[in-house]
Amino acid sequence: MIDTHTHIYLEEFDEDRAEVVRRAREAGVERVILPNVDLDTVEAMRATHELFPGYCRMAMGLHPTSVEADYRERLGRTKELLLAGNYCAVGEIGLDLYWDKTYAREQEEAFVEQANWAVELDLPVIIHCRDAFDEIVALLRSGRVAPFRGVFHSFTGTAGEVRALRALGDYYFGINGIVTFKNAHLEDMVREVGIDRLLLETDAPYLAPVPYRGKRNEPSYLPRMARRIADILEISLDEVESVTTANALRLFGEG
Ligand SMILES: [Zn+2]
Repeated sequence: MIDTHTHIYLEEFDEDRAEVVRRAREAGVERVILPNVDLDTVEAMRATHELFPGYCRMAMGLHPTSVEADYRERLGRTKELLLAGNYCAVGEIGLDLYWDKTYAREQEEAFVEQANWAVELDLPVIIHCRDAFDEIVALLRSGRVAPFRGVFHSFTGTAGEVRALRALGDYYFGINGIVTFKNAHLEDMVREVGIDRLLLETDAPYLAPVPYRGKRNEPSYLPRMARRIADILEISLDEVESVTTANALRLFGEG
């Protein structure tokens, strides 16, 4: 399995990072993808990438909650880093109107610009979209963003929202621990997406699955998401593991 979205470079893992990776490997997580957050997280992300050779791949981007008044400078530096490094995706980027709407317009600008870098560089996009579904659909329809390939990570939308996005592009959908929450009601959405466009992710340290809900999440919990998806789709755990791994390799490359 591949944990397609994890932040094990953050300080929550400073005490036991090697143990966390050992447990992940034991649980069958053969690789992880580390999406960047902002300029302050790049060094830690790179250090973790170096600490476990061949285990991590990195994505470069400026997260929407890190888009503020000086976002132009931040984007310039992010692009330099992207061009200078070996990244499997642009991310995570997108819109987040849950925490703060102050920079909504700037978030849109930053998303458009970064998505267009991905198209130029033929890289996929890792999209963070929180409380901004209509806004992101409007942007995709606007023609301001060149058609890109990518994943809507931590997707918790409805089956209808999956259909709305599919009218605009062939996207993947990242499913994390929320799928194990009793009141999440993601079954119809997961069935609508279907196994061929699902990706497994933890989003560690956030959103730990049941029975660890509210605690620190880690990549070794990934089989719990796979198990839940197998139950929803009524297919074997083996099939979930092999198809989602193939999906991740198709989107992000073999690297
Ligand atoms: Zn993330």
